[in-house]
Amino acid sequence: HAKRAGRNRFFQFDAASEREAQQVLAHTALLHLALTQNQFELYLQPKVDMRLGTVIGAEALVRWNHPDKGLLFPGSFLPQMHGTALESIFGAWVVDTALDMVMVLHNRGLVVPISVNIAAPHLQQANFADWLAQRMACHPQLPRGSLRIEITETAALYNLEPVAHTLLRLRDMGVSTALDDFGTGYSSLTYLRRLPLETIKIDQSFVRGMQDDAGDLAIVQGVIGLARSFDYRVIAEGVETVAQGSMLLQMGCDLAQGYCIARPMPLEDFVHWMEHWQAPLPWQQATAALSS
Ligand code: C2E
Ligand code: MG
Ligand code: MG
Ligand code: MG
Repeated sequence: HAKRAGRNRFFQFDAASEREAQQVLAHTALLHLALTQNQFELYLQPKVDMRLGTVIGAEALVRWNHPDKGLLFPGSFLPQMHGTALESIFGAWVVDTALDMVMVLHNRGLVVPISVNIAAPHLQQANFADWLAQRMACHPQLPRGSLRIEITETAALYNLEPVAHTLLRLRDMGVSTALDDFGTGYSSLTYLRRLPLETIKIDQSFVRGMQDDAGDLAIVQGVIGLARSFDYRVIAEGVETVAQGSMLLQMGCDLAQGYCIARPMPLEDFVHWMEHWQAPLPWQQATAALSS
């Protein structure tokens, strides 16, 4: 009797996972269709130097212009791609689209390096660096250093060695790497030690909490210090208020990204925004105070 129950359980589990597999397939098919129908769009969010008042780059963030549901954010559809074949097909679209955008900006006299987020399995493909070199070679006029990547700590979780090797090759190609969401993943310090990074991004959760929470503040200060020790650039994510920016400036973090500077926006809006942006007065004053 026990045996039969066991077998039943096994059968039920199997049916459930088959349903789940079918659902994943259906989602993936839908997402692939959306991709072929040009429903995805890359928005750009500026990265600025608060001290100098300059735009140092932009991060490409995907949006889905869904025909019925409107504008969808990556949190609602990227997880469904995770681990499927679509992940690298989508990743290729992101890279190609970002390269096109770099060229559009370049042709208008705007030098703006664009950072793309690369999913772990895509980065971990053995030929990732060669593949990226090929994509870049499609744009012979591409300015060196105009494509950057962002990876999260989970991206290299198993086996840092091949990832470090890939990142070194990217560096040779002029593609620098930022470690995204720093402090929220695993083995942060090992990553800093073993990966050839250029930039660390302070996760927005710490920036959000730093004014009220001594622990978050300590982490922000710690990451800024770590970045300095390792000779990495550090950029704060999720800077939502001018006051947060001023505080970061005081702590020695000049680079920032966040809603108080600009939200992610379509390419045309970004071009327009670039023509008009000025650092908020308190940042200019903080800078003047620092240098006097
Ligand atoms: P991320 O790379 O850490 O991107 C930062 C996220 O914070 C973005 O959310 C951005 O819109 C949001 N953000 C920026 N400034 C602020 C702020 O001041 N306040 C708040 N509350 N949020 C801010 P988004 O666009 O929803 O993207 C979420 C995540 O999805 C990204 O996190 C990234 O991991 C992933 N993602 C987005 N686009 C792509 C892509 O093209 N490829 C891959 N593989 N992942 C992507
Ligand atoms: Mg990112
Ligand atoms: Mg982040
Ligand atoms: Mg994130």
